[in-house]
Amino acid sequence: MALTSPRFTSSRRLFNASNNAPPLRMGARRGRAVHLIQFALLDLGYAMPRSTGGSYSPDGIYGNETVGIVKAFQRSRHITDDGEVGRDTLRHLEAAFPRPSHRLRLHFRSLALTNVPFQQSFRNARTVYGQYGIDVQFGSGESLHLTPAQAALFDRIDQNCVWTLSTGEYDQLHRLGSHTPPFDIKVYFVRQLRGALGCGGHAPGRPAATVAAAAWRWDMAHEVGHVLLTSSFRGPVHAPHIRNLMNAFPPDNSVIKVLTDAQVRQMRSHACCH
Ligand SMILES: [Zn+2]
Repeated sequence: MALTSPRFTSSRRLFNASNNAPPLRMGARRGRAVHLIQFALLDLGYAMPRSTGGSYSPDGIYGNETVGIVKAFQRSRHITDDGEVGRDTLRHLEAAFPRPSHRLRLHFRSLALTNVPFQQSFRNARTVYGQYGIDVQFGSGESLHLTPAQAALFDRIDQNCVWTLSTGEYDQLHRLGSHTPPFDIKVYFVRQLRGALGCGGHAPGRPAATVAAAAWRWDMAHEVGHVLLTSSFRGPVHAPHIRNLMNAFPPDNSVIKVLTDAQVRQMRSHACCH
């Protein structure tokens, strides 16, 4: 069966499960496939106190709690309540989310070419947020043509990255380029940031992120994550789990990143995520 929801399409394991080859069941290897099923069930209103709250949350472990919740979901859909996620259960899970629940529109402003191709950064952002029902949309893209004085100023951003950047180089940088709607996020690609590969700080009311040319392939999504979490997030700014998008030093690999339920709740509550 072809999966169509971005919540599930990025997982090869879920594709196999949708063909019963084999279904996901108790004792399945811990990981993202189980995590995504657990997250979908959380979004449907099922409580999973044992599987949530940790640094990889939901925890991706197909234990008794997950079996029980899958059975409850199956009974609500009048299908066999075997507690396994195969073709029928995935079909009903997909039907429960006919469209993304949230939308996030990004506008790109380039001062420099990035090592990682833009299409890859954008695709990765769509993949990681799409898992949680957040549709990342392309708002607009511009290559900025700078005056020699601007080019010299913005060649390297020396200002420290903090949450609120109402003055200085970042503030000036984030004023460049065409105007965007108030609840969209601008992403600036610059050559270099002093001591960093990205920054999610910006002036109040002008949501923006900045990404350096040498950034890794998940960094654009990571900096947008900072914008959405804001300084009010009641958890570590950088998540301890290596698989988490908001980990400080995630490996630059193609392993798809995850978010915790606490992070997703906070991100969805941002005015830019609607
Ligand atoms: Zn960070």
